[in-house]
Amino acid sequence: MRIGGILDISTIDFPGKLCSVVFLSTCPFRCPYCHNYELLFNWKEVSVEEIVKAVEKNYLVDGVCVTGGEPFHQDVLKLLEKLKEVKAVKVDTNGYYPERLKKALNFIDYVAIDLKTSPEKYSELTGRGDSWDRVEKSIEVLSNSEVEWEIRTTAIPGIVWEEELKRIREVLNDLNVKTKLVLQQFRNEKVLDSNLKKIQPPSVKELRALALKYGYNTVRCGEGEFKV
Ligand code: SF4
Repeated sequence: MRIGGILDISTIDFPGKLCSVVFLSTCPFRCPYCHNYELLFNWKEVSVEEIVKAVEKNYLVDGVCVTGGEPFHQDVLKLLEKLKEVKAVKVDTNGYYPERLKKALNFIDYVAIDLKTSPEKYSELTGRGDSWDRVEKSIEVLSNSEVEWEIRTTAIPGIVWEEELKRIREVLNDLNVKTKLVLQQFRNEKVLDSNLKKIQPPSVKELRALALKYGYNTVRCGEGEFKV
């Protein structure tokens, strides 16, 4: 597997669980606000067995979060199957691989999927012309599954803001999505496109107001996560 590294313990990456975090490298998208961008270009090859061994022997955690990059950008099925034998498994995905996601659901306890912007602006933001159609399919896969899941949107002033959030609300209504909806705070310390460093992160007050207005039920920011 192409991997960036493994974090031994996280309290924030798996709701209700202490988890280790496996960072898988590479991703089909190029979001300008990507804060894990070194994973897009750098990796080491590590076998499934080595990753599972490292996670299994960590007795302090009861879960593992497989994140990226984009986990489904490589063949991750075997890894998820083996991890599920030793820990509860969460996957963070950008939704670009609905078929792979569907096949993997038996080995996943929790999915966090990005809904990054309005359908009309998806290509521009991600750099992939077919991105929205595929993300929409992934949301449908999750809506029709039994797995616990959440949708995450990062609020970025001037980029993913009122106009885009209003459109996302319409999409969620059309898709009849009823799950945890998380509005995340944009952070500017580490971003793929350095122009975004000039954008100030929204305040918690602004985030909360946007969440209330556009039907997000959770806000996630530097201080943690809370319901609105
Ligand atoms: S989908 Fe995630 S990992 Fe990929 S470029 Fe966008 S923010 Fe970065």
